[in-house]
Amino acid sequence: MHYDVLITGAGPAGCMACRLLSEAGFKVLLLEKEKIPRDKCCAGFLSPQAIELIEENFTTIPPETISHPRDALGAKLIAGNGSTFQLPFSRPGLSVSRARLDAFLADESGGELRDGCRVLDLEVERFLVRGELKTEAGSETVEATYLIGCDGGESLALQSLRPEFFRTYAAPHLGRVSLVLAEGSIEWEPGWIGLVFNKRGRGMHRFYIKDGLIALAVMHGNSGTWRGEFDSLVAFLEETFGLKLEGESLAGTSAINLMGATGKFNLGAGSALLAGEATGLLDPWGFGIRLALESGRIAAQSLIDSAGQSITPHLHYSSRMQGLLNREIEQKRKFGGMIGDLDTSSLVRDSSRVGRRNRRELKHAFF
Ligand SMILES: Cc1cc2nc3c(=O)[nH]c(=O)nc-3n(C[C@H](O)[C@H](O)[C@H](O)COP(=O)(O)OP(=O)(O)OC[C@H]3O[C@@H](n4cnc5c(N)ncnc54)[C@H](O)[C@@H]3O)c2cc1C
Repeated sequence: MHYDVLITGAGPAGCMACRLLSEAGFKVLLLEKEKIPRDKCCAGFLSPQAIELIEENFTTIPPETISHPRDALGAKLIAGNGSTFQLPFSRPGLSVSRARLDAFLADESGGELRDGCRVLDLEVERFLVRGELKTEAGSETVEATYLIGCDGGESLALQSLRPEFFRTYAAPHLGRVSLVLAEGSIEWEPGWIGLVFNKRGRGMHRFYIKDGLIALAVMHGNSGTWRGEFDSLVAFLEETFGLKLEGESLAGTSAINLMGATGKFNLGAGSALLAGEATGLLDPWGFGIRLALESGRIAAQSLIDSAGQSITPHLHYSSRMQGLLNREIEQKRKFGGMIGDLDTSSLVRDSSRVGRRNRRELKHAFF
């Protein structure tokens, strides 16, 4: 069977690209290795910009995807001494279940969706993509004219298209996040994600309250285990916010790709594009859903506009993504005002020693 477009990964980037291409009449195969609904280590805080992208291109976000409490207000960055900097969204966003949101997006994507179908290998030539797939039923090879790789932080598409780039820039910045859910109590206003520096590595730990549970998302090295980091985060939160845990369970572990934080992005090549976290698009606070949706949309539009012109879509895609990438880089350089979808003015206003040290720490970690 020959398809116009193969899309690997049914997260926000893949579903957005699939939706627009299907609407434009392309024959699209959307491949997802997990069974849908699939869990994803994610706080599921949708910024107002992410909500707009979904509602403009799909339909209204259905109530069954929304968590309790529903308002997502932004993030609070917590310095080592417990002082807190509020980084709000420009207006309240929505707190959602990622499993349910992504299932809704996949349902509405309009393409041929195959879940429980892992892409094992990709071969890409000009206007020909061959994918080797593995399902419960066995193996299969599919062909398409174009590829959009939306397969997240540990992207096979990036590894296949740009092995040298992956080894040099992505692999050293790959980390893992383990999500632990627990009952208990904490003096913390639901609606905010707490961000705590990972003292021993890059990135940040996160915690938040959702659907009556306390969620602790612990960042650790690619090979290391989560337990040590988890224990030190818990000790910090016990002391700072009176955390009391009653039992805990590991909800899952995901790869996270921080290469974009070092200014390295990869948009693919020729007739094979990358979008979302596969590209390195994750803002310094770890928010990536809006960037995934936006890049998925631009990838699809670039492909639609290049088809029939006998030019590869990468030409349009790389020039149209420049605006988005420049905005990311420029925001970080200025440091203050909006960085990603969060307003960081409170960090810049604080001229105390704590504020200055925190800014230094942040710049060292991300900028
Ligand atoms: C702990 C944590 C909390 C976060 N919280 C937020 C938040 O509150 N708000 C926010 O905006 N962002 C958040 N993010 C970031 C956000 O989750 C990602 O940026 C976003 O999911 C990226 O979307 P994507 O479509 O690029 O990739 P993904 O959502 O990762 O989707 C990629 C898909 O590809 C599939 N796949 C991978 N390999 C293959 C293969 N070989 N074959 C077939 N399928 C494959 C995967 O199963 C997956 O479903 C958080 C991240 C973490 C780790």
